[in-house]
Amino acid sequence: MKESEKLLELRRREMVEGLKAYGIANRRVLDAFLEVPRHLFFDGDALELAYNDAAYPIGFRQTISQPYTVAYMTTLLVERCSSGKVLEIGTGSGYQAAILDALGYSVFTIERIGELYERSKKLFSRLGLNISCRCGDGTLGWIDEAPFSGIMVTAGAPGEPQTLMGQLAQNGSMVIPVGDSCSQLMTVICRLDNDFKREVFQHFSFVPLIGKEGWEDTVFFTTS
Ligand code: SAM
Repeated sequence: MKESEKLLELRRREMVEGLKAYGIANRRVLDAFLEVPRHLFFDGDALELAYNDAAYPIGFRQTISQPYTVAYMTTLLVERCSSGKVLEIGTGSGYQAAILDALGYSVFTIERIGELYERSKKLFSRLGLNISCRCGDGTLGWIDEAPFSGIMVTAGAPGEPQTLMGQLAQNGSMVIPVGDSCSQLMTVICRLDNDFKREVFQHFSFVPLIGKEGWEDTVFFTTS
C-alpha cells in the first residue's frame, strides 16, 4: 500500500474513533464507516480533509454531510430496520448511499441536480457498487420500487412528505430532518398499519429539500 493510502486509512480510523467519542456505538455502522473511503466522494484536492468531521461543498450550493450526521441518521435507520430496500432522497456526493450499501441494504437513491446525479452514477459504477440511482424530485419517491423498509431524507424538509410516507412498508421507518430554513429536528416516522408513530431527536442544519412536497426553489438557506 502506498504511503498516501496508508495515511488516508489512518485518518479514516481516527474519524471512526471520533464518531465513537461522540456517542456512535452501533458496531455495524462503525464498520461501514471503516469500509467506505470517504475521500473518494470528496470534491477537493486535499484528500485527508475528507476525514475531518465536517460537511464540505460538492458544488451547486450542496454539501457532503458531516460524518457525525451521516452516522447519526444511519444508526437511527439500522436500529429500526436492519435489512431490505432503502430509498435515499438527496444522493449528493453518493457517500451516504455507499454507507447504506456497505450495510447490506438494497439501495435506491434520487438526486434532483442533474450534474450531481451523473457524477455519483459514474462513481458508483467505477467502484462496482450496485446502487440504483435516478434524477428527479425525490419528494415524490420511487413508486415502481415501493414499498421500502427504510427511507432516508438527507435534506431539510418543511414537513412530512405524504407521498414518501405512503411508500413505506409496514413497520418501515423514515429518517427525515423536519423544520425551518435554519434548523431541523431529526425525526423518525414509523408506519404501523395505516398509522404513523413519530420520534423526535436532536437539531441539525441541512440544505433544503426542494420539490413538490418540500420547499420551493426560491428558499434561501444560510447553513448546510
Ligand atoms: N446524502 C448526501 C451525501 O452523502 O453526500 C448529502 C446530501 S446534501 C446535504 C442534500 C442533497 O439533497 C443535495 O444534493 C440536493 O441537491 C438534494 N436534494 C434536495 N432536494 C431534493 C429532492 N426533492 N429530490 C432529490 N434530491 C434533493
